[in-house]
Amino acid sequence: MKASPGCWTWSRPPARVCCGRYAVQIRRAESLKPFNTLSLQASAAALVRVSNDQELAQAMDWSRSQGLPVLPLGEGSNVVLAGDLDALVVRQCNEDLKVVAEENDRVTLRISAGHDWHRLVMRTLEAGFYGLENLALIPGTVGAAPIQNIGAYGVEFERFVVAVQGLEMRTGEHLMLTAAECAFAYRDSVFKGELRDRVIITAVDIQLSRRPQSDLDYPALRDELARRRVANPQPEDVFAAVVDLRKRRLPDPDKEPNAGSFFKNPVISAERAQAMRTRWPGLPCFAQAGGRVKIPAAWLIEQAGWKGRRVGGVGVHPGHALVLVNHGSDSGKELLALAASIRESVSRQFEVTLEMEPRVYGLQA
Ligand SMILES: Cc1cc2nc3c(=O)[nH]c(=O)nc-3n(C[C@H](O)[C@H](O)[C@H](O)COP(=O)(O)OP(=O)(O)OC[C@H]3O[C@@H](n4cnc5c(N)ncnc54)[C@H](O)[C@@H]3O)c2cc1C
Repeated sequence: MKASPGCWTWSRPPARVCCGRYAVQIRRAESLKPFNTLSLQASAAALVRVSNDQELAQAMDWSRSQGLPVLPLGEGSNVVLAGDLDALVVRQCNEDLKVVAEENDRVTLRISAGHDWHRLVMRTLEAGFYGLENLALIPGTVGAAPIQNIGAYGVEFERFVVAVQGLEMRTGEHLMLTAAECAFAYRDSVFKGELRDRVIITAVDIQLSRRPQSDLDYPALRDELARRRVANPQPEDVFAAVVDLRKRRLPDPDKEPNAGSFFKNPVISAERAQAMRTRWPGLPCFAQAGGRVKIPAAWLIEQAGWKGRRVGGVGVHPGHALVLVNHGSDSGKELLALAASIRESVSRQFEVTLEMEPRVYGLQA
């Protein structure tokens, strides 16, 4: 079992070590500021880092004994912490990767939930297992990838999924979901619906190809490859182009704390898109399966005048209207107030409701 180098390590001895039958180290009242990419201040009732299944089982057992819910946290790159969390926050740090099946040019891998996503993309590419290139440099862990069915440059995680392994949080029972049972959709899955807060994902089985098969349909990716004068792109070229594009386009959370795209791109009916296009001819439209149309939330936000605006300690990035940045505020509530103002003006101007992408925690019910 390998622990992720990117995973947090104790900087000082735990304030309270839960001993006796619990070997895992559980800290009470710990700050989560270092563990969310928006760098928001919030504390967890308890926090634990686990590096194998036994430690996870112990942590879950402890949470039940304390009557505390379990809250899985990866890199914290898709959460808004708006207040303290009355939960045992569990961070998984194991980075196991093994081949579980091989057939012709297809290979099935089982990767543990704590594995860093980008490192997985690099490891598979180096091993000659292709497919994940378009998803390079997405922050976060493998265990979080199924939650919102991560996607970028025309490819979504669901394309590779064979099964998702997890534990039922209430009982600790093992469960395995097939790709169909995960009900993947655009930035959505069963883990945001029926199974929300009910499952901690422990591993993911994905199938990749030994034969290079890059997806080059996304216009910005094609343009970037052309700019680099790559005539016959190989997976390594696609990987390099995606990494470069993302570095140029998206602010680095270490320098400008953010959670990536703050709103989903609205998907509307073809009739509605046509009507909007008539009124706003510059509106970009992307045809989706089933005849629906995706419109960019960034365009709507920019047209509504929010791009680059700052309100108190938070703001909208000047280079990317979909990215909200924390310029030094400790309060998730300030960020949510900005998000609410943006939603309101987009709704007023375009009659389109923006849906937030990150999950909000710490607001009183
Ligand atoms: C700069 C930047 C760029 C981004 N670009 C993209 C992009 O291109 N495409 C995209 O899809 N997303 C993107 N994101 C969003 C984010 O990277 C993904 O959603 C990622 O999968 C989140 O991983 P995480 O480990 O940080 O999850 P966290 O933020 O820690 O958690 C997110 C949610 O998943 C749950 N969760 C986490 N791990 C588990 C687990 N093991 N079991 C059960 N539930 C779990 C948490 O409880 C929480 O509800 C971006 C974010 C940033 C900051």
